[in-house]
Amino acid sequence: MPVTERLYYSDSHLIEFEARVADLTDRVSGWTAVVLDRTAFYPTGGGQPSDTGTLNGLRVVECIDDGERGVLHVVQGTAPARDAIVHGRVDWPRRLDHMQQHTGQHILSQAFVTLFNAPTKSFRVMEASCEIDVELQHPTAEIIERAVELANNVIWEDRSITIRNVTSDEAAELRLRKEPAREGELRLIEIDGFDLTPCGGTHAYRTGEVGMIAVRSWERAKGLTRIEFVAGTRALADYRKANKSAREIAALFSTGRDDAPHLATQLIEENKELHRRIRALEEGAAGFEAEKLLASALTNADGTQIVAHVFEARDAEYLKKLAHALIANPQTIVLLGSRDKDTARLVFARSADASGDMSALMRDACTMLDGRGGGKPDMAQGGGKNVQQLNVAIAHAAASVGGS
Ligand SMILES: [Zn+2]
Repeated sequence: MPVTERLYYSDSHLIEFEARVADLTDRVSGWTAVVLDRTAFYPTGGGQPSDTGTLNGLRVVECIDDGERGVLHVVQGTAPARDAIVHGRVDWPRRLDHMQQHTGQHILSQAFVTLFNAPTKSFRVMEASCEIDVELQHPTAEIIERAVELANNVIWEDRSITIRNVTSDEAAELRLRKEPAREGELRLIEIDGFDLTPCGGTHAYRTGEVGMIAVRSWERAKGLTRIEFVAGTRALADYRKANKSAREIAALFSTGRDDAPHLATQLIEENKELHRRIRALEEGAAGFEAEKLLASALTNADGTQIVAHVFEARDAEYLKKLAHALIANPQTIVLLGSRDKDTARLVFARSADASGDMSALMRDACTMLDGRGGGKPDMAQGGGKNVQQLNVAIAHAAASVGGS
């Protein structure tokens, strides 16, 4: 069986090559997997996604490492014949991006080892950012930024990155950042004077090619610290995005970007104060509104006054406050509703000397509103999404207690 010669092992910047088709298999997807005698395409592995590109102009959508069988190039369209000579071309922007993230990871991981003796347990290149899981027990912004600082210094020193092929005996004599995952001959990636680690991925020629590294966020996960970072072009894209967000927020305050957090904090404090004042005003308004509603209340056969009303844009808290003010009166049943944004809210209550199960009435009303609710026989609360049915639900509840 053929084994593909992996050209990316010796030259990570080689993107065009000629090769012979060694084998072909149909994929379940209807596409074809092409095995070549040699390839510059990197297959998915080691946390790094596969290259894409073309073979004789045909789209290579994915490359898979099939071990003994070599590298499978999954192509769309009519595949070339066995033994045909094909021209391969790797998508360079994607390869460069992966090299920047992957090499950036070597540098950042070694920075955590150098400064905090904290090894990296796993690594992933994701759609827009990357993750490493580091054995870092007590992460703080300061600790993480110190590692970021060291990593960027190593990038800007533009150190050389070289590949060393060694036997396992030779490797045993070397200080490697992580244990080799396999036996036999090893491929080591050496960042001059900084890092030495076994790896089968594609790396920059020099650290400067990584551009820069920035940490977006971090969290504790499964006893490790999960750090989300971006390198190279992703760092620039992320800066643009972050800057745009920050400037848009600042524009809302008619201020400069860096003054926005202070003004936002001020606004939130003012907003809290306004809420407190509104609550106090509502206390007074509820009493006044209760009197008005009582004046127009209907009386049922038992002599109980029924107050049924639908408000616009009142929250559940206000409805409850109003209900309490109303049921302070004897022989009173209160059926209140409100259209609060796209939600219908309900509060039903009765005075201690009135009869009726508010909880049961509430369940019926909420069924009509495609929502849910409940409570006690004298006070119940609920709501639903079917705002159009709110008037009908209140009218139905009023009819049930003889209030219509
Ligand atoms: Zn690597």
